[in-house]
Parts: sequence; structure tokens; C-alpha cells
Amino acid sequence: PSTDARQRPALPANSLQVLDRDHLIHPVMSFRGHEKHGVTVLQSASGMFLRDASGHDLLDAFAGLWCVNVGYGQESIVEVAAEQMRRLPYATGYFGFGSEPSIRLAARLAELAPEGLDHVYFTLGGSDAVDSAVRYITHYFNSTGRPAKKHFISLERGYHGSSSTGAGLTALPAFHAHFDVPTPRQHTIASPYPYRNPVGGDPAAVIAASVAALEAKVAELGAETVAAFFCEPVQGSGGVIVPPPGWLKAMREACARLDILFVADEVITGFCRTGPIFACHAEAVSPDLMTVAKGLTAGYVPMGAVLMSDRIYQGIADGLAPEAPIGHGFTYSGHPVSAAVGLEVLRLYTEGGILANGEARGPAFASGLAGLVDHPLVGDARSRGLLGALELVRDKAAKARFDPAVELPRRLFEAGYRNGLIFRAFADGTIGLAPALTCTADEMELLLSRLRRTLDDVLDDAEVRAAL
Ligand code: PMP
Repeated sequence: PSTDARQRPALPANSLQVLDRDHLIHPVMSFRGHEKHGVTVLQSASGMFLRDASGHDLLDAFAGLWCVNVGYGQESIVEVAAEQMRRLPYATGYFGFGSEPSIRLAARLAELAPEGLDHVYFTLGGSDAVDSAVRYITHYFNSTGRPAKKHFISLERGYHGSSSTGAGLTALPAFHAHFDVPTPRQHTIASPYPYRNPVGGDPAAVIAASVAALEAKVAELGAETVAAFFCEPVQGSGGVIVPPPGWLKAMREACARLDILFVADEVITGFCRTGPIFACHAEAVSPDLMTVAKGLTAGYVPMGAVLMSDRIYQGIADGLAPEAPIGHGFTYSGHPVSAAVGLEVLRLYTEGGILANGEARGPAFASGLAGLVDHPLVGDARSRGLLGALELVRDKAAKARFDPAVELPRRLFEAGYRNGLIFRAFADGTIGLAPALTCTADEMELLLSRLRRTLDDVLDDAEVRAAL
């Protein structure tokens, strides 16, 4: 015990907050911050609303962690999960076994995915999908006689999970500090960040700058040593950075020209988040590999996947020792309960009208966010589909961010909570938004009005005012 957390007012012994503080390590959260502030225990949910243990209702404008695309409380998902647990709760994919849900889900994904991504390996989430993609790519180049191709390039502010390998492709300082990544084989190029790009926000200039940066990095490393470029079609955890239309296609084409693999990390953008089932579809892009998770099972149970083109598959299949096992596998790869849920979630997107509803809500979301740019704190508003952000600044002309000492993210989160709204408050003061695709027109209005009230409250905060 080292912080004032231990002297906080009388929490009943064995209360959830005490047990949490003493025993549960949370993702990303600072250990000392956790001891000091504790957590808000969430109790139940329905549609777009969460209820916490104190009975406070919150409109969830972030779909959990940009994953509950179908909203909470979808009974048909509960039913298929229960039914699958009764019939066959587990089946290994090892030793020549399979299960119907995992086979059908792989086939359905291949059908929905961009052209050519016919082969699917299931994971438990996004980090191990990225990790699996790196392992398969490495195997592919070793198998096809090009073992020097071992360098990986990603974008600044990119997020590709927190596995030992993926955390190096993730280009956010907290994921590197004290973890000894990136490795010498992991490199980054500048993000296509229209609001802060040194070339300005002109779409053609932003795209040309990214292509030139990739070409320069590949030239510096030598194309014969570069395996792949990883990117998110819209950068999520880096602050919802939306590149101009055409950017993804230009990067895909540059990779083909440069003889490096193009990997689209659609963990957030997949499953209708930006409009179409996959963001790659909007630009008719076919990556060599694609990683997915989150919306695949809408967060109801864990699951991710890596999809690969036939070229990669065949390269590995005809590898160094074609009959030898490929030493990559997880106990829960293709878990039948997760796969059954995935099939039902995909059905809800396509036949259940959720994709169409999400697309219908996109324009109100975009114009609502754009309408907040008149707020004194908002420097930039951006979105694609139902994935959006407001970038907060203390000085609009200079695009100057708040000093971390102001603790803007904490103030935003607390003001949001008081107004019954949950969103992501990034460390740099950007607000991330990803409402469920089931969002009605009224719920969208409520979300936007609570957001404006939250911004007003934060602006009224004396310490924020003093920092302006
Ligand atoms: N890639 C991207 C683009 C992500 O956004 C995330 C998670 N936010 C991951 C990978 C890692 O996924 P997971 O947290 O399921 O391991």
C-alpha cells in the first residue's frame, strides 16, 4: 500500500471495489492510478445503455471497446451460445478434428471478405491475430526462399495489439516504454493525419506523402529485406485518424509495386463500423492478409481471425517441409461457442438489418460531430461511418493540445459520466466515439446533446479555463 487509495473513505470490507483494487490487474491502466481511483463496476446493459453498480445509467457511445456493434441484449446471440454449449461446448481443431460452427464461420468470412482472402485461422482476439499474421508471413518468406524478408513497417500512432510482436508494430509510446520494443526489424512511417500533416489536409497531398514515406522507408531498408506493411484503414487507438478516401488503395498499390505484403488490420474497422462490412470494400482493396476481431462476435465472446490470400496459403503449404506440422496453434482456435456466436452476429449484420441501420445513421453522426467544431474546445471533428473523434485543443489557431498536467482525459470522462455518457478519452485529449450500429435517430440525438453538455461542463471547469 503506497498511495492514498488505502486511506480512502470506508469501503466495506470485501466490497467489489476493495477486491478489485487488491487483486485485479486491469488492461493498460496504471497500477497506481488504479489504486487511487478504483473502477466503476458495470452491472448490466440493454441496447445502447449500461448500468453501473450504483444504478447510474450511461449511454455507451463507444460500444464497449469499439466491439459491441450489435448493441447489448441481443437474445438470439444468447440462445445460439447456450445451444452450442449444450450440444458441443468445446472441440479441438488439432489432430484432424473440426466443428460445424468454425467451418461454417470460416466459409462465411471468406465469402464476405475482400476478393481472394479464402483461408481463415481463428484466434481469441486481435493481438493474437496480428501475432499470427506475423508468424505466417515469416513462415511464408522462409518457405518460398526469401528468408531475408523480415522487416515490418507500420504507421506512427498505429495500433496492432499488445502481443510481444504486435506491441512493436503498435506505435504508441506507452506500449513501448519498459517493454523493449520495437525490435530492430520494426519500423514506422508518418501517419496520414489530415489535421496535423505537415503537407496540410489536401487529400491528394496526404496520400502522396504517405506513398512517398513508404517508398523511402523500403528504399532505406532494401525491398529484399522488407516483409510487409501493416495498417488500419482508419487508425483507431491512435486517435481515430481518418485518412482521405483513396489512401488505402494507394498504399495497397504501393505495396504491390514495392514487392511487400499489404496487411489490413480491420480489428476495429471490420464488421460495418465504417459502413461496409469491411473498410477495404469501400476502395475495392484486396489485402494479402487481413486481421479481424471485436465486431466478429460483437464482444459477446472472444474471437479474432487472420485471413490470408491463396498465394500466402500455397507458399506455406509448399514450404520447407510440406508434410511437417506447422507449429502454430491455440487450444481455443475456432472455439465452437465463439464461432456459433460469430455466425449469428454476421446474420444480424446482414439479414437483421444492422448494417443498413449503421449506414443510415452515419450522416447524422458526421454532421453532428461537424456541428461541434464551433465549440471552443474542439479543434477537429472527423468520422467515417460510425467511427469518429473530436480532437480537443486549448488554442485552435495553433492546434495546441492541453498540457498533460491539466488531466483533460480524466475531466472529460468524469463530466461524461455525470451527463450519462461513455466515450473514450485519449491521453492527448481526443474523444473517441463508436456507437453501436443499432443506434436509433433519437439515440444519436441524445448522444450528441450529452456530448455537447459534457464539453460545456469541461469548459466551465476552472482548471481547464486557466489553461486556455
Ligand atoms: N488491432 C487493432 C486495430 C485494434 O484496434 C486492436 C484492439 N483495440 C487490436 C489489434 C488488438 O486486439 P485485442 O485487444 O482483441 O487483442
